[in-house]
Amino acid sequence: MTDQLTFLSAADQLSSGATSAEQLAQTCLDHATTHNPALHAFLSLNPETILSAARASDERRAAGKALSPFDGVPLGIKDNISVQGERCSCASKILENFTAAYDATVIERLKAKGIIPFGRLNMDEFAMGATCQNSAFGGAKNPWDVSRVPGGSSGGSATAVSAGMIPAALGSDTGGSIRQPASFCGITGFKPAYGTVSRYGLVAFASSLDQIGPMAHTVRDCAELYNLISGPCSHDATTMPTKDTVSELPKGRDLKGFKIGLPKEYFANEGIAPAIREVMESAIARYRELGAEFVDVSIPSAPYTVSVYYILATAEASANLARFDGVRYGARAETKDLLSLYGESREHGFGAEVKRRIILGTYVLSSGYYDAYYLRAQKVRTLIRRDFDHALTQCDCLLTPVTPDLPPQIGATQAVDPLKLYLADIFTGALNLYGGCGISLPAEMSDTGLPIGIQLIGSPSGAQKVFTAAAAFQDHLNTRFIPKPL
Ligand code: GLN
Repeated sequence: MTDQLTFLSAADQLSSGATSAEQLAQTCLDHATTHNPALHAFLSLNPETILSAARASDERRAAGKALSPFDGVPLGIKDNISVQGERCSCASKILENFTAAYDATVIERLKAKGIIPFGRLNMDEFAMGATCQNSAFGGAKNPWDVSRVPGGSSGGSATAVSAGMIPAALGSDTGGSIRQPASFCGITGFKPAYGTVSRYGLVAFASSLDQIGPMAHTVRDCAELYNLISGPCSHDATTMPTKDTVSELPKGRDLKGFKIGLPKEYFANEGIAPAIREVMESAIARYRELGAEFVDVSIPSAPYTVSVYYILATAEASANLARFDGVRYGARAETKDLLSLYGESREHGFGAEVKRRIILGTYVLSSGYYDAYYLRAQKVRTLIRRDFDHALTQCDCLLTPVTPDLPPQIGATQAVDPLKLYLADIFTGALNLYGGCGISLPAEMSDTGLPIGIQLIGSPSGAQKVFTAAAAFQDHLNTRFIPKPL
């Protein structure tokens, strides 16, 4: 049933009385229970907590005291975002039994509007990965083809929304983890500009890159959720002092006078699959029909994206994950002395990819290599920022692919070889290094029946433009991407 339900239409149904929050929660629970064994989108679900929150919402509404039009809408939460009293494992054994002690700022804001946190969504361990197969508790599967990965790291969020288990979800994006799984699963995902959404209560992977963002069926769902979660936060000193808000996106507007930049380095990439090239060409044609104008722009530093990202992200991760030592959080090894307690807790608690990144990050920060890797990568990051800033002075937003290829088969080389996976972040990672905002939205279906997305990139203050261009495209396309009944 929830196949058709978007975040906004769920709110409408609640407002009109077509459904109650309890009915809605029950339907989502039924749907999730039926399909989760095959898809493994949820790591855990607590029906009692969800249903009692839904009943409380119905009571408020009946008393004329609904907290917002969204009071009672269920929202799936990635397992690295804290919800007080719920497990927050980051899909890692080291946090398997860890319960969050407080609400993340985004959760506090959503609860204040009556939105109901719905379950813990699967992910790559500590958000490190692009397949959702690095989960310590078993990977999620792509609802369009269960032999394929749903993408990652927010793969559980994308799977659950795409399969209609929930109207929308929160994910996090450090180098593409919202946009890439959104593209692989045929949904829309928005990576907010750095500092527009609080990271308080998000388990840190790479603090200068991480942002929480919405994953939903439509661009307007994402805009609404972004407006609900954005804004300054006293617990996160990196938030901007003023709230960024996207204003209404009128239906069916054209894009006359709107300029879209095509970064030439992105299209010169030889690794782009023909199916992705075709989608880009048809997206350009569609935008021309809408009246948009195209300009060629250049991001000369774009080819360094993956190298810079994997130096800075692993460096930050090695520092952030030092806190998981068996003493303060989660799993603790039984040992006789302190050093082996640290060593063994980490040895057994972390999976292979997380260890690989901690080792890489420690290496690039080590004395003797710091200047050659970390410092140099910071300098190239500055060039990347300048290049994007410059390109975006010539246009309103950029149009690029999200991924170079379609979702790989689970277990295939493309889904397990770390280097191949890192290279596939080429179109998403630069945005996080830049700090701007970006959206991935479904554009076409491949001949093989898999959805393919496109990416729009905006400046740090460019959310309105990105959403405007994305909404116009989605209206023009006028298709919903719904996987065949599972
Ligand atoms: N695929 C990237 C990585 O493995 C992105 C992860 C993310 O955005 N959390 O690091």
